[in-house]
Amino acid sequence: MKVGLIRCIQTEDMCPGTTCFKVMKGKKCAFEGVMEEIEIIGFNTCGGCPGKKAISRVQEMVKRGADTIVLASCITRGNPIGFSCPHAEKMKEAIVRKLGNSIKIVDYSHF
Ligand code: SF4
Ligand code: SF4
Repeated sequence: MKVGLIRCIQTEDMCPGTTCFKVMKGKKCAFEGVMEEIEIIGFNTCGGCPGKKAISRVQEMVKRGADTIVLASCITRGNPIGFSCPHAEKMKEAIVRKLGNSIKIVDYSHF
């Protein structure tokens, strides 16, 4: 699995991505049951509200080999402060529209 991960830019001051990296390495949470090796192609932010830059950023990740796009839990579940992204659904829809069905979208990273 070649992962491109997008996280919320607003949480950068609170989290350097530690749990995302840990769950990918240990194949836990969103990565439980993944049999193949997990390679991280890229780790980037949404670019700031309202998240429009996420679309071109995931396109770039796919260009560089990502076959799976992960929207981190700080976007979809509000980690670590319980404040999820108000634009998460639109962001995901726009990504799916742009990338089509050949790329897997995972809409969280950890619990
Ligand atoms: S999902 Fe969690 S660990 Fe990953 S970047 Fe966001 S707050 Fe950090
Ligand atoms: S668009 Fe969502 S994910 Fe991006 S900075 Fe704003 S709240 Fe965070």
